[in-house]
Amino acid sequence: MLYPDQFGKDPLFPKHSDFAVVFKDELAGRGVIAYRAFSKGEIVARMAGYVVHEIRQHTLQLTPETHLYDPYFSGFFLHSCSPNISLNMVDLTIVALKDIQANNFLYMDYAETEDILFKQFPCSCGSSNCRGWVTGRKEMISGEMVQPELLNINQAMR
Ligand SMILES: [Zn+2]
Repeated sequence: MLYPDQFGKDPLFPKHSDFAVVFKDELAGRGVIAYRAFSKGEIVARMAGYVVHEIRQHTLQLTPETHLYDPYFSGFFLHSCSPNISLNMVDLTIVALKDIQANNFLYMDYAETEDILFKQFPCSCGSSNCRGWVTGRKEMISGEMVQPELLNINQAMR
């Protein structure tokens, strides 16, 4: 298991034989590689981590007020505008959106889970529908907020 024993022994937790956090390249940094294949619709793994109340690098949003800090696995999923996994932040499962061959990186769409990103960045995913710039689902390019009430969160992060 990639998770320490304190998180329990859920059989869906990622195993060392199936996944690893590895360095991809200078641009992307570290990502999660899957050593085995998954079929479209298959559950890839279940996530675990610590619940925190602020957006950090490597957190995933659970609710507007809470975020999952997982320094072992899901915190290192790379972004693609054409992702191969989807995250369910209610039951913490990860589902394959397409057939995934062994030895491929897992890619999520950060806008699927995040209202606001820790940091926006230019996208180089190369997919035909690439948005070019990655933001949270509720923020505009450059961090301007779509909804005025979210301004407080943005200011608190500075
Ligand atoms: Zn992209």
